[in-house]
Amino acid sequence: MSRASTTTVLLDFDGTITVRDADFVIADAVLPPARANGYVPLAEAYERLEIGAAAYFERFLELVPLCPEEFAREAVRVPLRPGLDRLLAALGQPEFELRVLSEGLDVYIEPALRAAGLGHLPYSCNRAIWDGVGYTVAPAADGVPCARCLNCKGAHVQRARDAGRRVVMVGNGASDLCGARRADLVFARDGLVDHCRREGIAHTPFDRFDEIVRALRLSAPPAT
Ligand SMILES: [Zn+2]
Repeated sequence: MSRASTTTVLLDFDGTITVRDADFVIADAVLPPARANGYVPLAEAYERLEIGAAAYFERFLELVPLCPEEFAREAVRVPLRPGLDRLLAALGQPEFELRVLSEGLDVYIEPALRAAGLGHLPYSCNRAIWDGVGYTVAPAADGVPCARCLNCKGAHVQRARDAGRRVVMVGNGASDLCGARRADLVFARDGLVDHCRREGIAHTPFDRFDEIVRALRLSAPPAT
């Protein structure tokens, strides 16, 4: 009989599973030169915690007006971070429960995961609901908003902790901050390192997924 999982690993998508935020990659691929980088001030304001996810994505979808089929076509070309296969293999051990947890949008996350052969992974992300003309941005079905987030990772962390699990967060930016504040263990890169340092949140910086694999093996509960 396999042991029940004791550690929940919440793995960010944009800029963590992917090399670079998929929304940025898609925007760069489709925007004409006159509108290139139009999303950058928005993304920077989001990363500085000045605007929330709803404001960011509502404006982003105005700047990058793709229909769902066009998002799906671009999403399958977004590069994933090397070593992801080894991280997923390590997290296949019975003591781990893995969830992809994102503030990003289903219109690109779902096709990207499917194209990578990862459609079986449990995931939670926000929804861009298309009415044939434009989008309404809505929280994930299991999401709880906070003042800044739509799918607040802090709520997901707390839910897992309340179920008696140790919670590991892996992320790279502002969308991970609420989760990092409550997680037992935080693996951080890029902007999340700065947020954690500023708030005094204990974290382990990482560059490559192999560093997380090594660290999780060391910190995993002992086999029985
Ligand atoms: Zn939040």
